[in-house]
Amino acid sequence: MRNKRNQSVLILGAGLAGLAAGYELVKAGFEVTIVEKEEAVGGLARTIEVNGFRFDTGPHRWYTKNDMVNNWMLKLLGHEVTKVPRQTRIYFDHKFFNYPIKIKDTLLGMGLWLTFRAVVDYALVRFQQLFIKNEPVTLEEGFVSQFGRTLYEIFFKRYSEKLWGTSCKNIAADWIGQRTRGLNIVTIIKNALFSSQKIVSFVDEFAYPKKGIGRIAEKMAEEIVQAGGKILVNSQVTEIFHKNNVIISVSLNDNEKFEVAADQVVSTIPLSEVVAFLKPKAPLEIANVNSKLTYRDQIQVALFINKTHLTSDTWIYVHSLELPFVRVMEMDNWNADLSPKGTTSLVFEVTCNEGDSVWLMSDVEIVDMVTQSFIKEFNLISKQDLLGSYVHRAPKEYPVYHIGYKKDVAKIKDFLQQFKNLQLIGRNGIFRYNNMDHSIEMGLFAAWNIIEGERKFDIEEVNIEREYLEEKKIFGKEFELPEDQHVEELH
Ligand SMILES: Cc1cc2nc3c(=O)[nH]c(=O)nc-3n(C[C@H](O)[C@H](O)[C@H](O)COP(=O)(O)OP(=O)(O)OC[C@H]3O[C@@H](n4cnc5c(N)ncnc54)[C@H](O)[C@@H]3O)c2cc1C
Repeated sequence: MRNKRNQSVLILGAGLAGLAAGYELVKAGFEVTIVEKEEAVGGLARTIEVNGFRFDTGPHRWYTKNDMVNNWMLKLLGHEVTKVPRQTRIYFDHKFFNYPIKIKDTLLGMGLWLTFRAVVDYALVRFQQLFIKNEPVTLEEGFVSQFGRTLYEIFFKRYSEKLWGTSCKNIAADWIGQRTRGLNIVTIIKNALFSSQKIVSFVDEFAYPKKGIGRIAEKMAEEIVQAGGKILVNSQVTEIFHKNNVIISVSLNDNEKFEVAADQVVSTIPLSEVVAFLKPKAPLEIANVNSKLTYRDQIQVALFINKTHLTSDTWIYVHSLELPFVRVMEMDNWNADLSPKGTTSLVFEVTCNEGDSVWLMSDVEIVDMVTQSFIKEFNLISKQDLLGSYVHRAPKEYPVYHIGYKKDVAKIKDFLQQFKNLQLIGRNGIFRYNNMDHSIEMGLFAAWNIIEGERKFDIEEVNIEREYLEEKKIFGKEFELPEDQHVEELH
């Protein structure tokens, strides 16, 4: 057995989790190889550059309650980090609603009668809950118990079903926990009246790398390579070989067998793939449970526009079913330097399932669909303003929490625990709806476990907090940059 410092580590996937693990390990003197199936690092949190336009793969703002992870990121990026004011609206029934909700707008937008019904409904469910305490199972039950049926039907149902492509009855209530924790009518109204800034979705400014969110991954990758680590892109793991409860090798791109000199393996690739790729195969019972794990996929369409600041928003939630996208973000409002002077880019998120009719549309068709619907509905640009476009197909953006998923995931993880040199981390890696900070924290924990030579840091403990995720103001008193750094205001 080699001494601890000489151990080599194979990391599957170069998203934030895999890179954070690699970064810590390589700095501690370990031999690190990261394999990544895409042509670039960053996974779900990438910034793509096309003809001078830098755009993110979906809106990513940095916020965390974890000072350790926050300081770690700020130390990594230093002066590259800036501060972005958040401006978010909801587009609903051909109207914009401010987010956080403002009472006057809501009354004008929803009408007095509907607002009255929503409040009565909400009071009713709260009253019922004094006597009957049922844990909601489905997303529908979760929304209704938290917001009342009226708000669920007119507001949450439509957006959620557009996002998931299935009924809210088929998704587990747990998803709400992480998405709208702490958001209820009382806090919404309190916030609208008193502008308290304590609630997650109300964080009004956030940290952001000036050159796009992908800089977090890019910077880690640069430093890993500089310190002697290897990152192999375009290298897709297709088989994972094991013997005597140890992972011994993986094969890449269906042909080349890549021997793991490694004593340790850290996997961030989707949990279901780890099981499916095992050689010898997993028992039938596990394979059957594994086949229940599914993901929601997305196509991101970037349009490059010959105008600036088309909107005032960092992003807009689009509830309208007749529009094919769930969100649109404007890069100018994150940092105007992300696009060439006098231009901006819009990024539209079209959710779908890999292999369905939307996924299979050609790039030209999908750009046409998005452009036409955007021009027709918002009348902000004409076709002549379009300088170019780019289509990014992003599989497995969201782990789908099917009813009963917790038990299924636990069974799979129990089975995989037999592999003593394998740690599972990351959003799809452990099938948990992680934010960037959680994935980084998991990466750090996996690395420190290897460095320490024992599993001192519990990866399963990350991202299970019960409090609201965004309670803490990231640029508040608790948040301090290292002394030699400063944060520039962006206006
Ligand atoms: C649209 C969207 C918006 C988001 N907004 C925010 C936000 O505002 N704030 C926030 O904090 N978080 C946000 N997130 C979450 C954040 O993006 C993720 O938590 C984080 O990027 C996950 O990192 P990861 O390393 O765990 O997983 P991933 O990024 O999925 O990394 C896994 C890597 O493994 C690679 N891989 C997969 N299969 C294989 C294989 N077989 N062989 C080799 N490589 C493979 C993938 O290509 C990928 O690079 C958002 C996510 C999405 C989808």
